[in-house]
Amino acid sequence: MTHHTALVTGASQGIGRACAEALAAKGVSVVAGARQTDRLATLVEEIRAAGGTAEAVELDVTDQASVDAMAKSHGRDVDILVNNAGITADNLGLRLKDGDWQSVIDTNLTGAFRCSRALMRGMMKKRWGRIVNVSSVVGLSGNAGQANYSASKAGLIGLTKSLAQELASRNITVNAVAPGFFATDMTARLDEAQHTDILASIPLGRMGELDELAASVCFLASEEAGYITGHVLNVSGGLYM
Ligand code: NAP
Repeated sequence: MTHHTALVTGASQGIGRACAEALAAKGVSVVAGARQTDRLATLVEEIRAAGGTAEAVELDVTDQASVDAMAKSHGRDVDILVNNAGITADNLGLRLKDGDWQSVIDTNLTGAFRCSRALMRGMMKKRWGRIVNVSSVVGLSGNAGQANYSASKAGLIGLTKSLAQELASRNITVNAVAPGFFATDMTARLDEAQHTDILASIPLGRMGELDELAASVCFLASEEAGYITGHVLNVSGGLYM
């Protein structure tokens, strides 16, 4: 995959960071995007020290001007887009505030749409591209207390399948991964009882490893996955099936 360039959104930590490292290890030039530029700088240093190619771009996916600036500087090169940036703001539907609804939709769904729209033109010109959206099993199953988050992740699946149909003739595939339960800052916010309940409902009986998810993203981004599009790959230890 050495002649490809990947933008990973939300690469400053967690799943996005793991995807950036895994893609770089496969020879992909990585553009690591997020708001926390200090963390991106550390990631870039680590990738370069390991012999890979990486650079950082300050990116807020909720800000069209920030997405435009990223596309201006990197849009010509990027042919793999991993839409990973995401947030939660959990509450029961009855108590969910407009702001918490909107910020989650803006980041998780509109952010992915904006980055896809900004970068698909370059992929169309190259007649090769990969878009991998990081959805969630709760986008398939729903989850009490996460109406905003589940709606954003279900929306990402609709976005995935629609863009897959629009872009197929240009040899651009669009797929999603639906992760289950992985140890990151996002899941560290859950209390012990929630952790215990979720673990009990995972047939494989454990949380996923970040490199297991990154491997799925790398596969969907690879040349070998060229005949897979519009697919949602569930990476959840059986939590959803
Ligand atoms: P995390 O550790 O909280 O990381 C979230 C990442 O998103 C951070 O790098 C953050 O970077 C970035 N981000 C948030 N808002 C952003 C914005 N406006 N613009 C650009 N980047 C933004 O969470 P994670 O668990 O790695 O989650 C990564 C993705 O996986 C999310 O889409 C999440 O919904 C999904 N997911 C996670 C799990 C899990 O079990 N962990 C399960 C299913 C799905 P900055 O703060 O530096 O901007």
